Amino acid sequence: MVPGKLAIVVPCYNEQEVLPQSLSVLQKVLQQLQSQQQISADSQIVFVDDGSQDQTWSLISQFSQTNANVAGIKLSRNFGHQNALLAGLSTVSDADFIVTIDSDLQDDPQVIAQMVQQYYAGAEVVYGVRNNRDSDSRFKRTTAECFYKFMNFLGVKLVPDSADFRLLSQRAAQVLLDYPERNLFLRGLVPLVGFPSAKVYYRRQPRAAGVSKYPLFKMLHLALDGITSFSVAPIKLIMGLGLVIVAVSLFLLIYTIIQKIRGDVVSGWSSLMISIWGLGGIQLICISVIGEYIAKIFNEVKRRPRFTIEKNLYHKQKHEGKND
Ligand code: UDP
Ligand code: MG
Repeated sequence: MVPGKLAIVVPCYNEQEVLPQSLSVLQKVLQQLQSQQQISADSQIVFVDDGSQDQTWSLISQFSQTNANVAGIKLSRNFGHQNALLAGLSTVSDADFIVTIDSDLQDDPQVIAQMVQQYYAGAEVVYGVRNNRDSDSRFKRTTAECFYKFMNFLGVKLVPDSADFRLLSQRAAQVLLDYPERNLFLRGLVPLVGFPSAKVYYRRQPRAAGVSKYPLFKMLHLALDGITSFSVAPIKLIMGLGLVIVAVSLFLLIYTIIQKIRGDVVSGWSSLMISIWGLGGIQLICISVIGEYIAKIFNEVKRRPRFTIEKNLYHKQKHEGKND
């Protein structure tokens, strides 16, 4: 068997504290796999700098000058984790298979060897699945659990507890890149790619250094993207709500008419109640119907680039030597 070329894609956003450690751990994994003839000698670690404001890029370019198996790309600004992953995948188009892993060593790099084995056994997508979430806060665990349950309720197929730590064959990566959506939620898209898949399990560790780059609002944004780009169910739920309100207003209509006939009512109250409830319900239905169309069009028409690469040491390294 001729060993295939592996590219390890590592998105980094302000990760100067943890990068040296990540590099040495990942390099060990790479060397180990190379010595076992599992991957080719030109396999690479590719760091994607997602518009960091700290020393992340200067570290990456130093690494790539001193290590033949390290390259980096720099995005022109912060495009977000999901787009940074995509930028990485688009760059390593000559690799046979690609592993994406966070830079903070929360995902166990030792598991990459098992992923590679699964790849040789025929899987084109290998999910890294966390079998514990001890290192996450109770809040994060609960919200994540609710999110997976809600997505399941909406009928969106996700692999629970799989993050963006996975192996993709070059073919699977190309299929993924062909999905044109702007609101990226890779955890939802990858299962749509199809092809034989496998799972490997690992314990998620606390961050090796630095702080999380996913504050609560970014987390909520990702969850919202996941929901709205994979399901129109929320709009349908609003429509259901509107229908309930209309039903309540009909009930109130009858009730207030009876009260009026009985004569024990403050004047003006009946019409006020009916118009507030009736119109409220109708408006919700109308807005949700329009919203259904707008939400679909809005996301598709802009066609903005999903990332812009400012510097690319990956190609330089291959075609022009390693000088800056
Ligand atoms: N990240 C990125 N761009 C961003 C935010 C995060 O490339 O805008 C990277 C970050 O450097 C890390 C990975 O995405 O390698 C996951 O982020 P983090 O570990 O901060 O998230 P958490 O594990 O806390 O959910
Ligand atoms: Mg992390």
